[in-house]
Amino acid sequence: MEEKKHDIIIIGTGLGGLICGNILSREGHSVLVLEKNAQIGGTLQCFKRDGCLFDTGMHYIGSMDEGQILHRFFRYFGLLDKIKIKKMDADAFDVFNINGKEYKYAMGYENFTRTLIEYFPDEEQAIHSYVAKIREVADSLDLYNLRESDPNDLLNVDYVKVNAWEFIKSLTTNTELQNVLAGLNSLYAGTPANTPIYVHALINNYYIESAYRLVDGSGQIADLLAEGIISQGGSVLKRKEVEKFIFEENNLVAVETSKGEVFYADNFISNIHPSITLDMIEAGKIRKAYRNRINGLKNTISTFGLYITLKEDSFPYLNYNYHFYDSDNVWGVDYYSNDNWPQGYMMFTPASSKTETYADCISVITYMDYEEVRKWENTTIEKRGDDYLKMKEEKAKRLLDLMEKKFPDIRSHIKSYYTSTPLTYRDYIGTKEGSMYGIVRDCNNPMQSYIFPRTKIPNLFFTGQNINLHGMLGVAIGAVLTCGELIGLNKLIKKINNA
Ligand SMILES: Cc1cc2nc3c(=O)[nH]c(=O)nc-3n(C[C@H](O)[C@H](O)[C@H](O)COP(=O)(O)OP(=O)(O)OC[C@H]3O[C@@H](n4cnc5c(N)ncnc54)[C@H](O)[C@@H]3O)c2cc1C
Repeated sequence: MEEKKHDIIIIGTGLGGLICGNILSREGHSVLVLEKNAQIGGTLQCFKRDGCLFDTGMHYIGSMDEGQILHRFFRYFGLLDKIKIKKMDADAFDVFNINGKEYKYAMGYENFTRTLIEYFPDEEQAIHSYVAKIREVADSLDLYNLRESDPNDLLNVDYVKVNAWEFIKSLTTNTELQNVLAGLNSLYAGTPANTPIYVHALINNYYIESAYRLVDGSGQIADLLAEGIISQGGSVLKRKEVEKFIFEENNLVAVETSKGEVFYADNFISNIHPSITLDMIEAGKIRKAYRNRINGLKNTISTFGLYITLKEDSFPYLNYNYHFYDSDNVWGVDYYSNDNWPQGYMMFTPASSKTETYADCISVITYMDYEEVRKWENTTIEKRGDDYLKMKEEKAKRLLDLMEKKFPDIRSHIKSYYTSTPLTYRDYIGTKEGSMYGIVRDCNNPMQSYIFPRTKIPNLFFTGQNINLHGMLGVAIGAVLTCGELIGLNKLIKKINNA
């Protein structure tokens, strides 16, 4: 029996795929979302160990106070009264330990500015200039403010070419302040030579406006978005790994899964990495130059994760993220080396409805280069061999040693721990080489490193963190761009604002 033809097939249930599915089914289109895994959500998915719930890649969200940008999105999706969130510490939502000294980022611009001036009383002017500039950059991008936008003129040319680190260094010669201002760069795997100011400004602005944790994990967002798709008449099917795009003459008509099932549609949206998507298209159906450009783009570094379950009532719940830098260099990617690994980490105690005062678990993440696991790249989950397990154990030990510098008795609180490597992310989520945030945005080559949702195949579109920007907000904005191709960008923006 031939499958029913859908208006739109979406490949992947990551945040971008689910948002597109939710928007398009809301608009009356028949939508089918196909997911390769048994669990939906991609990097939104959570996993349980010893009764503790760990996020894989959505530890906190920003701009969720009433009227702020993410709040407006969640209102449109009808999530506001369903989602469980917890506001982080207003005076310290992110805490940095840089070479032994601690600094706090406070929420709200006034509070943020005042706190920094307390640390650096002689740098008042530089701090005010910094704040004014990142607000100006964040405000200048119409789409990020859900204002009417021209899809062909999305990035203000000046800001995509300005280097974030050069801008910070132009404000002050005080290296301590420079490092504090760049302290959140692990949220975008920044590099001093490449990160554009718009990436830095959008992400810092997003969290300074307000920062929240997702109580009992980020999987709730995936579940709620999928429930919305289904209640609007769409379908979300798990264990459907798309392997191939099927063409009739030169028209894309269907996708085929690893089990040989074929699904037909008028339009297709890929939520998976663009170069992996293009690998599923036979030669001759897409121009070589386009394929080469996409395949040649550099991806952000991957990560090593340490997931610790804690003895009961032994370690406090921290209502902030803790960023530890073992030197006065906060730009970890450029200085990555296996010899002095790890040079820093980011640590979170997830918010749980079971406990408020104490944490039941800790997630710790630090960079890890794919090259370190390349020799196991042809292995599969749980069958990678003893030498792989030994490598993971050695990494966990080194990371715990570093944690002891700040938390000397950390080992005594541990009940059990688990680890992930770039191969875990590659195999569970399908990101290229386990890349954390997808394609690198480069201020030296801005347009080359920017991927548009439209592809060279008229009815195939991209969505997800590789187009536009990563993270909750970046992917939501990207999904608006993708859906805008099908239903009109400014019409959609209006609907989100009027929800
Ligand atoms: C360690 C880490 C921490 C992070 N922390 C935060 C944070 O605190 N806040 C924040 O805002 N952002 C954070 N991010 C970024 C954020 O999680 C991602 O940018 C975002 O979730 C990516 O969404 P996506 O739409 O690109 O889909 P992805 O998450 O990449 O999902 C893609 C989906 O496609 C599926 N798929 C792949 N191949 C196929 C196929 N062939 N057939 C069918 N399905 C397929 C996958 O299984 C997956 O479900 C973090 C990321 C990482 C890695």
